[in-house]
Amino acid sequence: MEKKSFERPFIKKLQAGMPSKFGMKSQAEPITHIDDVPVPELLAEYGSPLYVISEKTIRSTFKKSRHAFTTRYPKVQYAWSYKTNYLDAVCRIFHQEGSWAEVVSGFEYDKAINNGVKGSQIIFNGPDKTDEDLKKAIENDSLIHIDHFDEMYSIIAISENSGKRPKVAIRVNMDTGVYPMWDRFGFNYENGDAWDAINRIMINEKLDLVGLHTHIGTYMLTSNAYKIAAGKLADLAFGIERKYGVNIKYIDVGGGFASNNTLKGAYYPGSDTVPTIDEYAEAISSAILNSELNPRNLPTLILESGRALIDDAGYLLGTVIANKRLSSGNRATIVDVGINLLFTSFWYEHEIYPAAPVSEHMEETAIYGPLCMNIDVLREAIQFPLLKKGDQFVIKRIGAYNMTQWMQFITLRPNVVLIDTEGKVHVIRKMENMELIRQQEVIPEHLK
Ligand SMILES: *Cc1c(COP(=O)(O)O)cnc(C)c1O
Repeated sequence: MEKKSFERPFIKKLQAGMPSKFGMKSQAEPITHIDDVPVPELLAEYGSPLYVISEKTIRSTFKKSRHAFTTRYPKVQYAWSYKTNYLDAVCRIFHQEGSWAEVVSGFEYDKAINNGVKGSQIIFNGPDKTDEDLKKAIENDSLIHIDHFDEMYSIIAISENSGKRPKVAIRVNMDTGVYPMWDRFGFNYENGDAWDAINRIMINEKLDLVGLHTHIGTYMLTSNAYKIAAGKLADLAFGIERKYGVNIKYIDVGGGFASNNTLKGAYYPGSDTVPTIDEYAEAISSAILNSELNPRNLPTLILESGRALIDDAGYLLGTVIANKRLSSGNRATIVDVGINLLFTSFWYEHEIYPAAPVSEHMEETAIYGPLCMNIDVLREAIQFPLLKKGDQFVIKRIGAYNMTQWMQFITLRPNVVLIDTEGKVHVIRKMENMELIRQQEVIPEHLK
């Protein structure tokens, strides 16, 4: 008979077995495998902590999302939001699925080119495009989404000395009933700035206005905001058609669809409350189809969805370092994953699961990272099983933003592996080492 493992005793108030407002008590179901690969094997082979990305989940999430839109609207194009996760292997999966690239810096632009994306299939967003960036984008026929008048004037000036007619769109911000409004990006719809920008482009023959863009926010909990946004862009497109006789080729509604994560302070879990991709698709496509735009010459609908397409595909695996009892009497578990690797723990109540079956006992626990910093808290209070030093765990839904906003702080960044659709594991970003850090530093002569 196998020896039972020791579990320390603890005292717990008796519950009479009545369901609470959330139903019966929950149990910590372990996550023992990711796409059939055992978690302990991954950690033994590639070290702890470890980022794991499931190619199968990326592709299935993408296909489901594309299906939601293509069944409702005739011309749909996705553009992968690089800043959400720009590991090259991840970008290339999206490009293989037919996504263009959506970038917000010269660095991301070069990454997209390096990933084999055609210049004409790169959308260049963001408030910071240098003249060098703009020249390159114009040369490559990329789609430049103008953020402010200063940028428009730069593009006009550059185009005067180039044989090219830059392809541009304007970014429009607007009131969609969700506040605070993201009015710092682009030109405002309500106060007439958007029309002002459009008129200046249209009377200047040097620029080719091909699209209208908005990105109304992120983790948007109402699909109705997209209905309003798509409707307003369709109105602008119709107005341009009427005033100038020019057809706008695409309407780009940006990203911002919520992932299934749960926001801090939310009463119900995100998986129960966020709109489905079908609801977003319904709102956006009906707004354009019901607009006054000519149904025989509809603009392409571009989507720059980021977090909703990648969050579920990412996992962060780790190991318990220690347990302790705080002076308050509360239990704390210290783990080897810090907020330097899990930036999104500032907003999300990330779900953390044991990597092996455990007893049903759970206790309210604070989960702290390994950094010597008071703010290094993954969860303030979570019903958590009694994991011991050395036990392993899996954090779910971390694919968005963590592998771009991570910090090299106090410790080095770990390996990132991709499990392909055949279950084969590939390192797609090597763990950092001392040599890499030293390479970047320069010691002045007098300190040698
Ligand atoms: C960040 C960003 C996106 C992606 O947003 P998600 O909330 O991750 O979907 C899309 N478009 C623009 C312009 C962005 O800045």
